Amino acid sequence: MARDTLPAGFVAGRPVDSRSGDSLDVVDPWDGTTVATVGVAGAGEVDDAVAAATAAFPAWAATPPAERGAALLALAERVGQRAAEYAEAESRQTGKTLRLATEFDVPGSIDNAVFFAGAARMLEGLASGEYDATHTSLIRREPVGVVGSIAPWNYPLQMAMWKVLPAVAAGNTIVLKPAEITPLTTLMLAEDARAAGFPDGVINVVVGRGPVAGEALIGHPGVGMVSFTGSTPVGRRVMEIAAGRAARVHLELGGKAPFLVYDDADLEAVVHGAVAGALINTGQDCTAATRVYVQGDLYGPVVQGIADLLSTIRMGDPRDPDTDLGPLVTTAQRDRVAAFVDRARGAGARIVAGGEIPGGDLAKGAFYAPTLVTGAGQDSEIVQEEVFGPVLTVLPFSSDAEGVALANDTRYGLAASVWTRDVFRAMAAQREIRSGCVWVNDHIPIVSEMPHGGMKQSGFGKDMSRYSLEEYTVAKHVSWDITGEPRKAWHRTIFADRG
Ligand code: NAD
Repeated sequence: MARDTLPAGFVAGRPVDSRSGDSLDVVDPWDGTTVATVGVAGAGEVDDAVAAATAAFPAWAATPPAERGAALLALAERVGQRAAEYAEAESRQTGKTLRLATEFDVPGSIDNAVFFAGAARMLEGLASGEYDATHTSLIRREPVGVVGSIAPWNYPLQMAMWKVLPAVAAGNTIVLKPAEITPLTTLMLAEDARAAGFPDGVINVVVGRGPVAGEALIGHPGVGMVSFTGSTPVGRRVMEIAAGRAARVHLELGGKAPFLVYDDADLEAVVHGAVAGALINTGQDCTAATRVYVQGDLYGPVVQGIADLLSTIRMGDPRDPDTDLGPLVTTAQRDRVAAFVDRARGAGARIVAGGEIPGGDLAKGAFYAPTLVTGAGQDSEIVQEEVFGPVLTVLPFSSDAEGVALANDTRYGLAASVWTRDVFRAMAAQREIRSGCVWVNDHIPIVSEMPHGGMKQSGFGKDMSRYSLEEYTVAKHVSWDITGEPRKAWHRTIFADRG
């Protein structure tokens, strides 16, 4: 995209300029430099995008699944050809390490596209048969229509993919709004969708601010389904607006994942798992391991092990292959994280490692030192609220039942992990923990075939997997009379003996 200002979106296959002339800078949080300037869309551009998606819907819904799948495969191929460019843009706009973007974000996104290319061809109705003597029933799975999607900034490419792929695989058309601070890879995706052969209007992107373009999209009468990934407070607002016209809602919200360590667990696995699980994406991960609970005598060694391992973490240039931890996405996010830790310290918690904004060469970026907090109360803010930074708390517990109760004691329910060598303990915990995903002796890995989504205030709805494909469809019952009789037996309920 050789323009001074990147477009404010892609509508009907073409880049669109901001009508208002408004723009914003995409900033590299490593050093505060401007990576690109992007146009900002408002309600007018959203209207155009919904109109384009509405116009494209009938033909796309009628396109044979094999052809929809072929477009998805071509998209996977395009992204694969530009993998290095995607990884670089993702790293620049978020501050995540190039290593993470190259080994996780981009290949994960490509694999998702390949998965949904196949899944598009697997959509089928469940039942076909006679459930009374006079009718044959069949179920059709039909697309909902125009989907309005909103994505967060932590994994911009993956979140765009998680929104777009199941929607269009199922025959819907989509208008996607990325987070305004991280639009680059979503704009690249829109370009590549056109090159991959998606008809104009099937995949539309608008770059705009949440309360303006976001609310215009969610509130648009032409949008049949709203799919949102982001924070729980904004998710509630999204639900409120969609309720105005009873639109279908899909919400993937915040998390505060417990990491439950029984006293028979493998110490080395626990320490490495907790640090990796807490620091992935600089802790800006809805499933990050943020609440570590350790049973009995293992508590001391785990705290010591985590502190020791955190002291080896190398912060630095996200493009340097030796860097383990990049900056947070913005200095505002860093300051938010710092304020959480400062309040915890003020409330009597112990900061065993980190707990500061690093100086020196790192001062030019949005860095926060990886931080270990102990001694916080279970009901304290640092344990209950989503910090979204490289911060983990460790708390002790005694009985197995107490561990599970502590793990369940938040309003969130997105992900959790259980660490033990005892198969019966693991079985009990995976059953009793209230979250959309439970890992056993690991924390973080995901696969395209399996669903991702929450319970409680982490939202409802599934991303990835065949379950998400179902979310973007409506089950339609078709009931055929097989008697050929002009007067049906049930008419007696109306006409009595005259039937
Ligand atoms: P956010 O809620 O601030 O913003 C998310 C998106 O919503 C952005 O595109 C933003 O522009 C838009 N938005 C903001 N206000 C809006 C409004 N009034 N109306 C419509 N749209 C609006 O979240 P964030 O800070 O970008 O992302 C971090 C959050 O996302 C965390 O809470 C994290 O846990 C969550 N998240 C959840 C999942 C999941 O799968 N459950 C995945 C990734 C991130």
